[in-house]
Amino acid sequence: MAFISVEDALKIIESARCPDRTEQVSVFDCCGRTAAEEIVSAVDQPPFDRSPLDGFAFRSADVAGACKERPARLQQVGYVPAGCGETFSVGPGQCVRIMTGGRIPADCDAVVGIEDAAYADACDCDGAAEVLIFKAVGHHQNYVFAGEDFLKGAVLCRKGQRIDAALAGCLSAAGVTEVTVCARPAVYVLSTGSEICRPGECLSEGKIYDSNAVYLTSRLKELGFFCEAGWAADDAAQLKDAILSRLEQYPLILTTGGVSVGDLDLMPEVMAELGAEVLFHGVSLKPGSPLMLAKLGGSYILCLSGNPYAAAATFELFARPLLSALTGEDFRMKALCAPLAEDFPKTSPGPRYVRANLKDGKLYVPQSHSSGQLLTLSGCDHLLKIPAGSKPLPAGTVVEAYRI
Ligand code: AMP
Ligand code: MG
Repeated sequence: MAFISVEDALKIIESARCPDRTEQVSVFDCCGRTAAEEIVSAVDQPPFDRSPLDGFAFRSADVAGACKERPARLQQVGYVPAGCGETFSVGPGQCVRIMTGGRIPADCDAVVGIEDAAYADACDCDGAAEVLIFKAVGHHQNYVFAGEDFLKGAVLCRKGQRIDAALAGCLSAAGVTEVTVCARPAVYVLSTGSEICRPGECLSEGKIYDSNAVYLTSRLKELGFFCEAGWAADDAAQLKDAILSRLEQYPLILTTGGVSVGDLDLMPEVMAELGAEVLFHGVSLKPGSPLMLAKLGGSYILCLSGNPYAAAATFELFARPLLSALTGEDFRMKALCAPLAEDFPKTSPGPRYVRANLKDGKLYVPQSHSSGQLLTLSGCDHLLKIPAGSKPLPAGTVVEAYRI
């Protein structure tokens, strides 16, 4: 195995590409995705001047000086509930009854709330009637202009912008039904190892239940990827078949296990026999150094070590940048610097990535954190980096950490 540095592995990963760079999704599914094109509004939002109140619309000059004791008297000439497209001409001394969201007639410049008005006589609210207005309202008072939210021609969304729920709502309000977003490849997770029992199988002697398939598919789903999982024993024919049969459907396959130098670590041999282009095999880091990236038939195959924490850490460190490169989105962990809360007792010839919790600005490493242990990763929010060539580090040493 020819080990390369983490940085060199990441450089190779950065140049990975997927053939499908964009896809169309329903506006209902665009939240959390990244826009692949600028989106300009084709309409004003709202499309017309509208009432923010249930009340009456009129010419404000007609209610100048109106009060409880001396109400203005207006003739109701129409009724405008929300959604009404009828046009009313409202002359001096006239008004329409209007509901919230109703289109304000062109002749009117103000609205008063229903609580500041009354009918002079009992009547049907939608017919002709005399209305008493008990309050003066000024020009454009209680009046919402067309385009209050955004105008026709406004850039709602830039290319490369992540769409949040509010923006998705605005796109819908602009009449958009389909959004062109950065494509996300479907990912296949292949958990390998003759000792691995899939969920629901009976655990016999020498076997262990799988955790990697669930960990990796859970993380992929958290990041917004469609994924499926499968299993294969340490058997070259099974491994080849599992990979070959998924190449067409999955631009990315993540495998765990069988990538090191043990007798039955068959992934390197399988890649060679399938004629895959191995982009690297072996990265100088702990844990998960036997990491391998290969390309076959246009798909990428990232092979992670089977140890659950090694698989998890190398997923965060390498699969996330790979997902970024394939999609044009940014799934990489964000870096920060913080001090160790406690001594870190191990020496580290190469870089070492350790699970940690950031609390009150300090990084806490759980007591047990071997690469076979997954439970103590639960609740951790960072991977901290112990630099290559480090002696045991005392509490307070400032280290780099990455938010998972
Ligand atoms: P390997 O990378 O195949 O040498 O496996 C390293 C260690 O991780 C072994 O102890 C395996 O039993 C364990 N392991 C491999 N795959 C899984 C998995 N899917 N779930 C849990 N442990 C695993
Ligand atoms: Mg194995």
